[in-house]
Amino acid sequence: MVTEKIEYILEDLKRSSPGQSEFYQATQEVLYAIKPLLECEPKYLENNILERIVIPERTVIFRVNWLDDSNKVQTKLGYRVQFNSAIGPYKGGLRFHPTVNLGTVKFLGFEQIFKNALTGLQIGGAKGGSNFDPKAKSDGEVMRFCQAFMTELYKHIGYNRDVPAGDIGVGAREIGYLFGQYKKITSQFNGALTGKGINWGGSLGRKQATGYGSVYFANEHLKSYGKDLEGKICTVSGSGNVAIYTIEKLIQLGAKPVACSDSKGTIYHPAGIDIASLKAVKEIHRESLKSYAKLYPDAKYIDVAHYPQGGHAVWHIPCDVAFPSATQNELTLVDAKALVKNGCILVNEGANMPTTPDAIEYLLGNGVLFSPAKAANAGGVATSQLEMSQNASMTQWNFEEVDIKLHQIMINIFKLASDTAKEYNSEGNLIVGANIAGFKKVANSMIEQGAV
Ligand code: NDP
Repeated sequence: MVTEKIEYILEDLKRSSPGQSEFYQATQEVLYAIKPLLECEPKYLENNILERIVIPERTVIFRVNWLDDSNKVQTKLGYRVQFNSAIGPYKGGLRFHPTVNLGTVKFLGFEQIFKNALTGLQIGGAKGGSNFDPKAKSDGEVMRFCQAFMTELYKHIGYNRDVPAGDIGVGAREIGYLFGQYKKITSQFNGALTGKGINWGGSLGRKQATGYGSVYFANEHLKSYGKDLEGKICTVSGSGNVAIYTIEKLIQLGAKPVACSDSKGTIYHPAGIDIASLKAVKEIHRESLKSYAKLYPDAKYIDVAHYPQGGHAVWHIPCDVAFPSATQNELTLVDAKALVKNGCILVNEGANMPTTPDAIEYLLGNGVLFSPAKAANAGGVATSQLEMSQNASMTQWNFEEVDIKLHQIMINIFKLASDTAKEYNSEGNLIVGANIAGFKKVANSMIEQGAV
């Protein structure tokens, strides 16, 4: 009965929203993970929660026109999907990347609902973005794009309504331009965006939060099996915001991150990645990782053209713990087989949905511990909410204060996911635990608020 209902919902989604494969993938994972809950508590099906929760409350799609550096008008699409506000104002990042489409934004927004619920904070789920590519564009052109994007988006957001943040391609520079335009159009200085600069309402520790939080989560996961990160060889994909601060925290905890990647290639540095050089290459100069490899004769650069077929070089480097922290579906079955063969004990998702379903099945089937994204990378959005709290009370906490709160939130999320898995006879399966815990909080709130 429950399986038929889930299949019906998924089939219906395929009919009503064709071509959104990443969104189906995310929906399928959640609906099957919560099956043990649906089987013992009929109220969710009786209240048609599944039908309701897979449809966004509101979707805004808009045209963005701006002038490029040669004064030509350029056009891209802008999106904001306000998925669910049962437990708080909409909250979720903006992604600027050429691959962004409605299905991408819906998958990210859907995941965000349950992730936000897991933090224990009052934030609903949303996501947005554009197929604009900020890479290799001048600061002036990025600014004009952000201003044009915000000229439409401002109509739909606000500090107690919908609070966007960064994601792939939207970092401190883009948030600055977006906030500047929001302030100019609305004549309001408020916390309608997070990830702001420290001098104008940002929170200390927000930049580090997703990466640090991911490492805190991994350590909790290992500790529950009597191990920890100290001395562990780690590989991390990506070299953006999440990856850099994952690497930084790993080094602080005595682990040894030896590899990371970008869209062009992978570096393998057996002596351990030098975080200062990595930040200089990626954060300051915005260069490819090839520049990092040139600094160290013992570091090897593997161009994307030489990746294993159907796989990614970074996962073929022996490690104890793997941190996929770049993008969705970047860790495939080919990669999972290499990780198992090389003795990896934990895959800890820093990116959203980075592991393909067949790779997850293979990892779990071979005894590899698995931390799902919606739990492991929730530190970013949790700290965004801490930024909202500071803005509301017009205060700024120091870095240590934020970091202590972040650490405690990650410990709580791990405990909640782990205890919930146990309660529903799936001990050790954090996919089941995280999805059920997040879903229950949102679904119960929806029932209590009636048919709205
Ligand atoms: P950034 O834009 O800062 O970095 C992304 C990194 O991933 C870059 O190194 C980029 O390489 C690489 N990358 C992007 N797309 C691809 C691709 N198709 N193939 C290979 N590499 C790719 O983004 P973030 O670090 O902020 O985000 C990374 C992941 O973490 C995303 O899944 C995001 O949704 C998730 N996340 C981010 C949070 C945050 O607070 N920032 C919060 C929670 C989740 P290149 O530099 O060459 O483009």
